[in-house]
Amino acid sequence: MQAKGIDPSTGFLDRGACLELIPRLASQAASQGRPLASLWIDLDRFKLVNESFGHTGGDTMIAQIAQRLREKSAGRAELCRMGGDEFVCLAPDCDLTQAKQLARDLLQAIEDPLHFGGLFLHPSASIGIALFEVGEDPFAFLERADRAMSTAKHDGGARIVTSGSELIPGRLGIMLAREELTIESKLHSALENGGLTLHYQPIVGFDGRIEAVEALMRCTADGESIPPGKFIPVAEKTGLIIRLGEWSLMQGALFARQLAESAPHTKVAINVSRAQLASAKFSQALHAALLCASVSPERIELELTESLFMDMSETVQANLFAARTAGVSLSIDDFGTGYSSLSNLKDIPATKLKLDRAFVVVLPEDRRAFAVVKAMAQLGRELGMTVVAEGVEETGQLEALREAGVEAIQGYIHARPMPEEALLDWLRRRRAS
Ligand code: C2E
Ligand code: MG
Ligand code: MG
Repeated sequence: MQAKGIDPSTGFLDRGACLELIPRLASQAASQGRPLASLWIDLDRFKLVNESFGHTGGDTMIAQIAQRLREKSAGRAELCRMGGDEFVCLAPDCDLTQAKQLARDLLQAIEDPLHFGGLFLHPSASIGIALFEVGEDPFAFLERADRAMSTAKHDGGARIVTSGSELIPGRLGIMLAREELTIESKLHSALENGGLTLHYQPIVGFDGRIEAVEALMRCTADGESIPPGKFIPVAEKTGLIIRLGEWSLMQGALFARQLAESAPHTKVAINVSRAQLASAKFSQALHAALLCASVSPERIELELTESLFMDMSETVQANLFAARTAGVSLSIDDFGTGYSSLSNLKDIPATKLKLDRAFVVVLPEDRRAFAVVKAMAQLGRELGMTVVAEGVEETGQLEALREAGVEAIQGYIHARPMPEEALLDWLRRRRAS
C-alpha cells in the first residue's frame, strides 16, 4: 500500500506533503533565526528519455537518479518529488554558501553517466536556489527557486542559478503563482479532510421532466470556500484533477443510487476533465464507481467538453468506448465555445448537447445568436441528441430557447446547484405541486 504523502517511485515526499512542509519549515526558520534554502531541480531533456524508452524507462531512470540524490543529501535536506522530473530539496539551517555546495554536489551526482537501455546516458539538470527571507510568503519562496531553475534551463541547462541573480518577474506573476500554490495546498487538505462536496442542479425538460441533475464540485478549506472557476484549473494543471475526478465519479454514482428510488427517470451528470479521460486508469475508476455504488450505468451521464473530442488519442478513444460499452451516456458540455466544426458532431458518440451559457445571456435580443441556437438545436436533434441550454436566468431567455427548439433548460430560473438533501426536498416539492 502506498504511504500517505510519499511518492511511490522515489520514496521522497510527494507534492502535497512538500506544500504542507514548507510553511512549517519557514516558520521554524523565522522563529529560530536560522537560514532555510530550497533547491528546485529539473532534469534536462528528460522528455527525450520518455520518448525513447517509454514511461517505464523514464520511471527507472527517475528511481536511479533519486537514489543518488538521497545519498548526496542524506542528513542535509528533505527531498520531494514535485511530479515528472522535478524535485525540490529543502535544507534547513543552510546558508547560501552551503546551499551552493549542496547544489554542486547534487548536480555532480546527477551527471554521473548512467548505463541505460544499452547506452551510456549523460543526464544533467537545471537547479534553482532560493534562500528564505523572513516575512516572505513560504510559497513565494518556493516560487523563487522554481523561477531560478527556469532561468538555468533557459540558459542551456546543466547549471545552477541563485534567485536574486536572475531577472525578477513582474509582481503579478509571483502573486498569481502564489495564489495557485495556495489553492493547490488547500485542495490537498480538502481532499484529506472531507472539504469536498457535490452540489446538484436540475436539468428540466420543457415537458416538465427532470432529465438529469448535474453534479458540481464545491471545495472548502480552512473555513473558506473556493469557487470551481479557481480550483478546477489549478487541479487540472497539477494533475490533482485525477483524484478529484475519481472522488466525484464515486460520490455522483452513490447519489445516483439514492436518487433511483425517488426519481427513477433522472440521471446524474458528472463532469469529467480531459486529463481524466486521457488517463489509462479512467475506465477502471468508472467501473469501480458503478460497482461500489451498485448503480445501473443508465443512470449516469458523463459531461465532456467539446474540445476533448477534437484531438482524440488512443487512450481517450478507448475510454469513451469503455464508457459507452458499460452503458453510461455521454454529453457534450459547453458546446459552441470550443474549436469543433459542426461536421465533427456526427462522429461523437454523445446523446446530449449542452449549449454554452454564452449563447443564452444575449437572448432574446440578439437575433443572430438566436439563429445560431436554432440551427444548433436542429442539428443536434437530427443527430439524435437532446439539446440543453445552460445558464438560463430569465423568462425572456427561456421563451426564446423554447422557440428555438431547445428541449431542456438548466439554470437559476429553475434552481441553483444545491446539496443532496436540498435537492431531494426540491424534487419532493415539485412532485407534490
Ligand atoms: P459546467 O460543467 O459548464 O457547469 C455549469 C456551471 O454553470 C456551474 O458553475 C453552474 O453553477 C453554473 N450555472 C448554472 N446555472 C446558471 C445560471 O443560471 N447562471 C449562471 N451565471 N451560472 C449558472 P460552477 O458550479 O461554478 O462550475 C464551473 C465549472 O467547473 C463547471 O462548468 C465545470 O466545468 C467545472 N466543474 C465543476 N465540478 C466539476 C467536477 O466535479 N469535475 C470537473 N472536471 N469539473 C467540474
Ligand atoms: Mg458540466
Ligand atoms: Mg457547461
